[in-house]
Amino acid sequence: MGQPKYRRVILKISGEGLCKPGGMGLDQEEISRIALAAKAVVAGGTQLGIVVGGGNFIRGQVLSQAGHVRRATGDYMGMLATCINALALQDTLEDLGAPTRVLTAIEMRQIAEPFIRRRAVRHLEKGRIVILAGGTGNPYFTTDTCAALRASELEAEVLMKATKVDGVFTADPVKDPTARKFDRLTYQEVLEKQLGVMDLTAISMCMASRIPIVVFNLKKEGNIARVIAGETIGTTITS
Ligand code: UDP
Repeated sequence: MGQPKYRRVILKISGEGLCKPGGMGLDQEEISRIALAAKAVVAGGTQLGIVVGGGNFIRGQVLSQAGHVRRATGDYMGMLATCINALALQDTLEDLGAPTRVLTAIEMRQIAEPFIRRRAVRHLEKGRIVILAGGTGNPYFTTDTCAALRASELEAEVLMKATKVDGVFTADPVKDPTARKFDRLTYQEVLEKQLGVMDLTAISMCMASRIPIVVFNLKKEGNIARVIAGETIGTTITS
């Protein structure tokens, strides 16, 4: 691998990135694939923070639609799900010899450190992979918004948004074979066209912080390394 393009990146992995396509829960093979790629990023000299989602277990909004469980309660359950994912990723990374810290937005001192910005920066500078769990710590937000927030405050150069398709399309490429992929988009275009790649809060935050977003296919082998090397894959969203 040549010189990496980025010094510090935030990688957003959805919960569904950690299970088999269309599945739920955790799949060790998928987690190991991501861990191997993440280890290589740090070995290449790039500082890496990973924001994990929790949708492979719970989405607060979906759960609350069935009644009984309040939206806020469901959201907290979703945030706890991200912590489960973070721990699985941490042990897998450390088995590969990659030093890792889990930092949670909701305190759970027995299993992880609380998220403290300056501490997160220190871990990154020491070459540790920092897994950012518990979302923003607030209900009614998403882990995409958490990724935009952490990328902003940790001064990452790019937010890598891993998805199960090749980038941002005119329509859902899984359902519509005529859907066309965008190579480049502006934040404004994503907001105006409501392209649904990330929630609008996340896009707005990246726009305000001028953090480029690269949307790419996680399930294609080698893609994380390609983005880090500066290859133009997926869709790049900038001002
Ligand atoms: N969540 C939340 N606040 C946050 C981040 C997440 O309330 O800051 C909850 C919310 O219920 C969400 C769930 O955690 O549905 C899982 O996160 P998300 O849907 O972003 O996960 P992903 O789709 O990336 O797997």
